[in-house]
Amino acid sequence: MVKKPVISMKMSPKAVSPGAASPKAVSPKAVSPKAANARLRKTLEVSGHRFTEQRAAVYRFVCDATTHPNADEVFQQVRGEVPGISLATVYKSLETLVNCGLASKLTYSDGSARYDGRTDPHHHVHCVSCGRVRDIPGHLSPDSLEILGKGLDGFRVSGYRLELTGFCSECSLETDTKGSMDPPN
Ligand SMILES: [Zn+2]
Ligand SMILES: [Zn+2]
Repeated sequence: MVKKPVISMKMSPKAVSPGAASPKAVSPKAVSPKAANARLRKTLEVSGHRFTEQRAAVYRFVCDATTHPNADEVFQQVRGEVPGISLATVYKSLETLVNCGLASKLTYSDGSARYDGRTDPHHHVHCVSCGRVRDIPGHLSPDSLEILGKGLDGFRVSGYRLELTGFCSECSLETDTKGSMDPPN
């Protein structure tokens, strides 16, 4: 059994290019809500899907959230905005957004999934305690990728996924506080 490395490199072409039919990769955080809605409507219709308030609310939340929420977290947030929406509808809306190239899906070995309103290539930090995922502002230099790809016998690299794992500031703080509150034996 190999110990889980701090930096896990996974080859995942999907994380880099979320589908051939995807629109131009942009960070939706950079556009106004009105423009985001117009873009959503257009992209959904081009892909043969209807624009619905449910899908729009799910899309808005996924774009605004910085923690890359899972389907349940999206549901908890959006149900306050769209009364009567079900978890199944949220899940289907998320999958539709991913299939249209409007969002990315981050899957994990335990079967869980998180959703990202960004579809441009970028990397993540993943808290192993609370599960929250955040974007890393920095990029790896193309040199380091070239070095990594060297010596791969016959393997054709089509993409990569970089995720730093560890503890977010809140979980680190919690561990520290708990530790200091425990009386020494
Ligand atoms: Zn955490
Ligand atoms: Zn992200």
